[in-house]
Amino acid sequence: MVPSDHSPSAPTWSDPNTCPFCDGDLADPGAGFIDHLQTSEACETSFELWRDRVSSDIGGEWAG
Ligand SMILES: [Zn+2]
Repeated sequence: MVPSDHSPSAPTWSDPNTCPFCDGDLADPGAGFIDHLQTSEACETSFELWRDRVSSDIGGEWAG
């Protein structure tokens, strides 16, 4: 099985007008995403998990 490109830990940022976590439309690229995170608890959680993974990866430690 090949991991899908919609894996929660690897959001696709190809469209800045769309939330990569829930595919919801955003009012504005960038700022609209931040607003969206404040109104969507699930997406905010997913974003924080993703960000933690990225920073862990940069730190050279992979706790997977
Ligand atoms: Zn979302």
